[in-house]
Amino acid sequence: MKTGISSFDELKLSNALRKAIDDLGFEKPTPIQAASFSVITSGKDVVGIAQTGTGKTYAYLMPLLQMLSFSKQIHPRILVVVPTRELVIQVVEEIEKMSVYSTVRVQGVYGGTNINRQKDTLAQGSDIVVATPGRLYDLILSRALQLKEIKKLVIDEVDVMLDLGFRFQLTNIFDLLPKRRQNIMFSATMTSEIESLIQQFFVGTQKIAIAVSGTPLENIEQACYAVPNFYTKANLLMQLLADADTYHKVLVFVAHKRSADRLFQIIEEQYGEEACVIHSNKTQNYRVRSINQFDEGKNRILVTTDVMARGLDLNKISHVINFDTPEYPENYMHRIGRTGRAEARGTAILFYTEAERKAKDAIEALMDLKINQLSLPEGISISKELTPEERPKNTEPNIPVKRAMDTRDGASFHEKKEKNKRTNQGGSYKHKIKAKYKKSKTRGDKNYNKRNKRK
Ligand code: AMP
Repeated sequence: MKTGISSFDELKLSNALRKAIDDLGFEKPTPIQAASFSVITSGKDVVGIAQTGTGKTYAYLMPLLQMLSFSKQIHPRILVVVPTRELVIQVVEEIEKMSVYSTVRVQGVYGGTNINRQKDTLAQGSDIVVATPGRLYDLILSRALQLKEIKKLVIDEVDVMLDLGFRFQLTNIFDLLPKRRQNIMFSATMTSEIESLIQQFFVGTQKIAIAVSGTPLENIEQACYAVPNFYTKANLLMQLLADADTYHKVLVFVAHKRSADRLFQIIEEQYGEEACVIHSNKTQNYRVRSINQFDEGKNRILVTTDVMARGLDLNKISHVINFDTPEYPENYMHRIGRTGRAEARGTAILFYTEAERKAKDAIEALMDLKINQLSLPEGISISKELTPEERPKNTEPNIPVKRAMDTRDGASFHEKKEKNKRTNQGGSYKHKIKAKYKKSKTRGDKNYNKRNKRK
């Protein structure tokens, strides 16, 4: 997104804000800051797609602080919700740095610490509350925090929040907020779950997307293969990976945890210790170990989901393989930006099925560039087997056909053989099952207990 804004002067910041920015030594707004400022000050609902490191925190703080007037009222007017306590602390610090020349009362609240102390400080009054969703919800329920004066809601890193299983708290918080408010959301990746939140709670949303951060497209060689299905994609990937000299540091992106596990199992069978996987159902220790081993070159192949890959600063990736075509083109830009860094050349390869063709077209439209299509190498075995997600009726969620299957009984929580194709485990069907059985149908979901304890 180009805005033409290249200096802080053009943002017409208040003197207090401008002095604070000058003290921080910033010379000009980052692209996400330039793009967000006027949209946020206009009062519209906004979704910004930007990763950590792009200056996204100040992208929403600058306009919000610019609009915030002095007040002595007790109840906060701005609510910032973030996924982790570390981020609460960081955002509070950023607000404090920005408000050294003005009077802004900011309060950070998060779990794992004494709630009574937080209740006491909230009682003294605040302008901005920065919170993690769990603790925020507890404070609202105990009436220590009242939301009736909230005019601006910011949800930062919403993709991580949803991935951590905070949807329940988030939707409850949305419901408790005053109807007349401005919603601002930031996320590194776009997902259908985020899209559904926007549909449900936002009005006339303006989307701000910053393309690849720091990586010129010219450094990345791009190619794609048309492949009929998941298991044929796996066969193709296995063949490409056989050339270990060329494919020496490979980041493989998949759409979700189930795909990650399924694919990792296949890669591991053939390449054993060379491969590792990260997604949000793996423990923190496991993820950190996998990332380090991959970065240090002990593992050659890392399988990851979009959400988990955010913020990873990995060196010298030789190939980014888009095993699934991302539904949102911005995610493709973020994925391929992992290679070709710092002047180095990298290669990005996209696998797409017929069902993913539209998503590939959207990526090409965003880049204004056609991805070079290669024919499948000789000897790739074409699989007839379909994954539960690929089986009929759930492959094209956007086509308004009548979903006969949704009305059937007898859903299953495990993968069935080809002859029993009735189940699928994705999309709205998943939510129906969840509602019916009141529990997660994903086995080994480490967030299940956490979520249900809070209910
Ligand atoms: P964030 O993406 O919000 O995590 O910000 C990443 C880092 O960029 C933070 O350390 C900020 O202090 C810094 N930063 C934010 N805005 C600017 C700017 N306009 N110029 C230089 N650095 C900035």
